[in-house]
Amino acid sequence: MAQVFLAAELSPTVQRRVLYRELRDRSDHPDAEALFAAVKQRLPDVSLATVYRNLRLFVEAGMATELKVEGSSSRWDGNTHRHHHLLCSACGDVSDFFSEELDQLGDSLELDRGFEVQGMDVRVTGLCGDCRTP
Ligand SMILES: [Zn+2]
Ligand SMILES: [Zn+2]
Repeated sequence: MAQVFLAAELSPTVQRRVLYRELRDRSDHPDAEALFAAVKQRLPDVSLATVYRNLRLFVEAGMATELKVEGSSSRWDGNTHRHHHLLCSACGDVSDFFSEELDQLGDSLELDRGFEVQGMDVRVTGLCGDCRTP
């Protein structure tokens, strides 16, 4: 993990390391409040404002992404490999999906349009399997 911080030119403070580990080890795309609750168990003095500030630093450094969700708080993702999201509009569940077709689309945009793709996050909204069943 030290390399991640080194590459990002961020000093690896204890708060940042604990927060980053928590974010990286989860795949449920927590919001800042959930991360704050988890980090606070280990570092009781941490504040929500610090969590937000560090999350924004992680995003600027390319270590995480922010998923803005209309009408609710942002969700945070420590997985920086190219992937896409399914958002359930009923329960708020956010899950990852991967798609070779979309990766190929990115490649063909580079080839055909000369467009350098720097990020591609396709978001599909709808109802998850649990929320669909009556
Ligand atoms: Zn759902
Ligand atoms: Zn994700």
